[in-house]
Amino acid sequence: MNAIADQLTQLARPEVRTLPAYNAGLSSEVVRQRYGVSHVARLGSNENPFGPSPAVGAALANMAQSAGLYPDANCRALRSAIAQRCGALADAVVVGNGSENLLEVLCQAFLSPGDRVVTLIPSFGLHDIYPRMMGASVQMVPVTEAMEFDVDAWCLALATGPSPKLAILSNPSNPVGCMLDTQAFERIVAATPADTVLVVDEAYYEYARLSPGYADALATLRKQSRPWIVLRTFSKAWGLAGLRVGYGIASDIFLVQILDRIRTPFNVNYAAQTAALAAWNDPDHMEMSVRDAVGQRDTLAEALRTLGLFVAPSAANFLFVNLHRPNGPVAEALLARGIIVKPWKEKGYEHFIRVSIGSALDNALFLQAMQDILGDS
Ligand SMILES: *Cc1c(COP(=O)(O)O)cnc(C)c1O
Repeated sequence: MNAIADQLTQLARPEVRTLPAYNAGLSSEVVRQRYGVSHVARLGSNENPFGPSPAVGAALANMAQSAGLYPDANCRALRSAIAQRCGALADAVVVGNGSENLLEVLCQAFLSPGDRVVTLIPSFGLHDIYPRMMGASVQMVPVTEAMEFDVDAWCLALATGPSPKLAILSNPSNPVGCMLDTQAFERIVAATPADTVLVVDEAYYEYARLSPGYADALATLRKQSRPWIVLRTFSKAWGLAGLRVGYGIASDIFLVQILDRIRTPFNVNYAAQTAALAAWNDPDHMEMSVRDAVGQRDTLAEALRTLGLFVAPSAANFLFVNLHRPNGPVAEALLARGIIVKPWKEKGYEHFIRVSIGSALDNALFLQAMQDILGDS
């Protein structure tokens, strides 16, 4: 390291010095240039190949002339539309610059150095990075050998030692895709101390809803008098990852008021609010894309199992695949063919890739490439 880098590292907060960078994946342009391919199959970020409702384009064109105005700092129109469909109070809904923004704000609002956080491993990186940014100590509960939630281990982690400030779990999990059913979810809720804020990240809710038994977290949590928040996003099923909108439904309006103190006042920009509302008002488009993804997911999982690979059962729009060999060379060989997937880097999972369900063409390209690559080695 050079002297300036060294000095800056010393100036940074101790929590920041050891923080890993978020692994955001490669851009299509970089892949096109580096590998000289014309078509890039983006199967690394769980994006929706259908994109948003066509209504979004018209709404954005209409708002362009208002781009000189500040957006509504309280996202009133979008919050009340979300609240209405979810059966919540508008004041118990919070909107963020992506749901990752809400994760960040939750950590800033609740975590002091030394506080405990319980989450999953393998994990969505930000469930670990944001708590560590605040100096919390993060306990990660592994999935079982069969790549399912380990409910016993969760209950033990939640009930042992000082109460965690936050318990953060994604249902279904990213990257595994496993889900909690109603009974398992109720056990975890019952084991969560009353002074822990339970954060249920439902980024893939719209997909998982089609899986029989998927826990209805809102229905369970509404019967509890304890703090909780359910996070959802417009980035996946609603096809709006590029505009950054996520929302939370909270146990009560006071939780939202705390988050409102921390978030930047205009955290959701004008285009994002406009687009999200237009998408929300066209659920048919979202549901069509979700049905397509679920059908293709199950077909692709079967085909990969035929190749001798282990594929974790998934309730989301991606598959977590054990290659039974280091993932780096396989991911590299896929990139050489213009196919982006996510080789998992967390310790113990270096044989796994996460592949998103894309268009029928891209899924077929991926499967063909896997047959070629695994046949060659
Ligand atoms: C994709 C994803 C998010 C959503 O991120 P946005 O910031 O809303 O784009 C949140 N949590 C998990 C587990 C995800 O996979």
